[in-house]
Amino acid sequence: MKNKILFCFLMLSFTAFSQGFITPSEKNNFSKVTSYNELMEFIGQAVSLNPAIKADYSGRSVQGRVIPVLFVSHNPDNPVVYLFAQQHGNETAGKEGMLFLIKELAEGKLDNYLQKISLLLIPSVNPDGNEVNRRRNGNGADLNRDHIKMFQPEVQLIHENYRKYKPVLCVDIHEYVGSTEEWIKFGAYKTYNIQTGVLTNYDIPEKVKSFSKGKAIPFIKEKVTGAGYTFNEYTVGGPPNLARLRYSTTDINDGRTSTGLLGSLSFIIEGKREDGDSVANLKVRALSQFTAAKAFIEFAAENIDEIIKLYKYSSEGLSIIDSVSIQQDHFNLTGKTSEFILTSSATGKDTLIKTDALHENVVPLKKVKTPAGYLIPASDPLLKEWCENYGVVTSPASDAMKKAVYEMRAEEYYTRNLEEYDMVFPEVKYQKMVLSNPDEYRYIDLSKNSKLRVVLALEPESMYGLFIYEEFKYLMNKDGRYAILRVE
Ligand SMILES: [Zn+2]
Repeated sequence: MKNKILFCFLMLSFTAFSQGFITPSEKNNFSKVTSYNELMEFIGQAVSLNPAIKADYSGRSVQGRVIPVLFVSHNPDNPVVYLFAQQHGNETAGKEGMLFLIKELAEGKLDNYLQKISLLLIPSVNPDGNEVNRRRNGNGADLNRDHIKMFQPEVQLIHENYRKYKPVLCVDIHEYVGSTEEWIKFGAYKTYNIQTGVLTNYDIPEKVKSFSKGKAIPFIKEKVTGAGYTFNEYTVGGPPNLARLRYSTTDINDGRTSTGLLGSLSFIIEGKREDGDSVANLKVRALSQFTAAKAFIEFAAENIDEIIKLYKYSSEGLSIIDSVSIQQDHFNLTGKTSEFILTSSATGKDTLIKTDALHENVVPLKKVKTPAGYLIPASDPLLKEWCENYGVVTSPASDAMKKAVYEMRAEEYYTRNLEEYDMVFPEVKYQKMVLSNPDEYRYIDLSKNSKLRVVLALEPESMYGLFIYEEFKYLMNKDGRYAILRVE
């Protein structure tokens, strides 16, 4: 009897507490976005409510704000699913949606998924941007273009946690503006509550891409539309009469592709927001994001055996890749006509647009043979730091001495338009050399590193590499010699 009374008391108090446990945006009736302090308080409450939720408070933003990283697990051996939101500080609803997810986790409502998977969550990667409703971080940097350079502490934190937990599936959460001036002028624009995108880089194994596109996206679509929200696969570019459309980018400087290059299945969520207004339609934005994020968790839990197999297949395949596509672009090879349901500028109603402007085939335009490794100048502080942040291990150059070393020389440059940008590349010629000063180099042995990721970052003709960034232009010496050497 005593036990029964105690049980009833516990149940009552739990129910009372859990009803009181609402997200800050709910508390404000969606009249304002969650501030940093409210977020920290909410996470503290979630952690105290459910011991399966652990918070790591060791990471900090540029302006010194703690960036909480949550690990939610019932079994540390479970494969990990990684969701991170708000790299762009003015894309607030991803974070709000994530707080709804954390609320359900705290209340134990997602326990059935936690039997199969553990969750790694960063609800607000860019708290400095959040506080001033700004895309960029405290250094004025776009975090979702920093995953090659890895200069920003917020991006370093994403990857430190990636390396620690080796997630099999990642979701990078954003918002987009669909009704821009060009689209309104075009006569119709995007109003999908949720778009989701898959990996498009040519070198990601086809099996991963077709599973993501053929199985994950339809699953997410069903959940999102089932909850009453509109959905489409994520495209950028257009409108169709002005420019082509493509399935996002093959670039590796963003959250989705940089984690995909390491073998994870990786996705992006893009929820619709209103330009310049962080509060407009916040309830729908937050709850549609919550629905999409939760759908990914459900998808991962339901398909975890297949996802583990694909992760193994992808990470092992990428570790033996013998050539790397360093320049790629999107084409419509089949002349296919694609259909979009857009919102008409004139009537505000759904309108069907047919176009051949969607370029859905990614084609490699330049490939290089995967080398055995690279030699980098040992005294270069920026490269040394980059290796640490990018997760690259180096060894003494003596390890490379039995192999052939090549200098990469650029006598001429050429321009190529890729993903709508005119990019200038050195026309590289390889020249075999004898390394007389091995002490001045460190060796990046590709058998001990993530091959695809390192080759794409270090080849001077790579459209994704360090050399395309101003901060690394010095790598090409005045006499046309690239400071990094190739080892075969
Ligand atoms: Zn974004």
